[in-house]
Amino acid sequence: MSIKAKKPRGLTAKILMAMALGLSVGVVFNQLNTLSWVQDYILNGLLYVGGQIFISSLKLMVVPLVFVSLVCGTASLDDISKLGRVGGKTLAIYLATTAIAISLALIVAAIIQPGSGFNLTAEATFQAKEAPPLVETFLDIFPSNPFQALAEAKMLQIIVFAGFFGIALAFSGAHGKRVLNIFNDLNEVIMKMVMLIMHIAPYGVFCLIAKVFAEQGILAILPLGKYFFVVLLVLVVHVVLTYGGLIKYMARLSPMEFLRNFKDVPIFAFSTASSGATLPVTLEAVEHKLGVDNSIASFTIPLGATINMDGTAIMQGVATLFIAQAYGQDLSLMSMLTVVVTATLASVGTAAVPGVGLITLAMVLRQVNLPVEGIGLIIGVDRLLDMARTAVNVTGDAAVTLYVAKSEGYFNQKIFDGDQST
Ligand code: ASP
Repeated sequence: MSIKAKKPRGLTAKILMAMALGLSVGVVFNQLNTLSWVQDYILNGLLYVGGQIFISSLKLMVVPLVFVSLVCGTASLDDISKLGRVGGKTLAIYLATTAIAISLALIVAAIIQPGSGFNLTAEATFQAKEAPPLVETFLDIFPSNPFQALAEAKMLQIIVFAGFFGIALAFSGAHGKRVLNIFNDLNEVIMKMVMLIMHIAPYGVFCLIAKVFAEQGILAILPLGKYFFVVLLVLVVHVVLTYGGLIKYMARLSPMEFLRNFKDVPIFAFSTASSGATLPVTLEAVEHKLGVDNSIASFTIPLGATINMDGTAIMQGVATLFIAQAYGQDLSLMSMLTVVVTATLASVGTAAVPGVGLITLAMVLRQVNLPVEGIGLIIGVDRLLDMARTAVNVTGDAAVTLYVAKSEGYFNQKIFDGDQST
């Protein structure tokens, strides 16, 4: 499937420049943010509006893109029975990488002890919102009204409906073929819209980053420096070891080439702190830069954006130990295993929008009898960590997708190698 609209040239460089500029401007405005005109016109005016328009434009594409792309993907699978195998394999690897992520987080946090000697303050009050119960989360996968699922952007329900529709198309002979042609054309148009939105990315990224740093300030990190550092460290270790290993030893591809082809996507994820909003960009890159066939990517990427959040799980693992250490409580091996299981499930239940990982953390803390108000301790740096963990969340989706596609024979080496003629 060829894509006519080309990504703007030098986009990565422009976005990186926008980030650097946003950071500097944000730090300056952080010193001025007590002034009411800065609050009203700059932070909640210009920067807020610019950032929201960018996020809305990305989100605008998510539902149509996932639906249309997944219908095309399932309908063009040469063997529908593969759907079950690919689905099972993807799910298993998503869950396994998440469990590895939390285990790494627990090991590193146990060694570095970011919460030891932490001076608890009385202000640490946090009213955790209730995380949804698991049964409800499971039942929520099955739509009873497709239009409601689309209108409310319920990703798993959309996946189920689009997959079902795609399978029916494949079995509908000439009728199905005619409808599929329309969907294939629509897919091209929607991808073109995604490309057009990428043109405004540098402006959007500037606004988002400037606002975050103007509100948070870099100094907010200092009292929680050790916690902040441990989360970042484990995020990097997980990307290098787990994803690097998966790509090099299981997919037998170059991890460096993977990063070179995929680098724009984590930058988008970092700026928006939402794997949901980044989804159109992820899907575009996985298909047109990593060489994964649409029939795999259109299914595994939306699924991953919804349930696979290794970065979030890492934050939850480190945060759990941090809170335990800060409150002087020891976690037994059994409790640690409980954390691995619950944080894996919590990351499945975490919505792909900013800050939700902190809410589902309450579920993990409750499970091992740690004070939920401990979340109040780390909330101050969560916005910045949210950006970093979202970048890891989307990278995990792509790494697993690449491996599944390669192992199932739905991978185009020429596209991965950057051969423009394909
Ligand atoms: N912001 C994350 C994401 O969208 C979720 C979270 O950890 O809060 O992937």
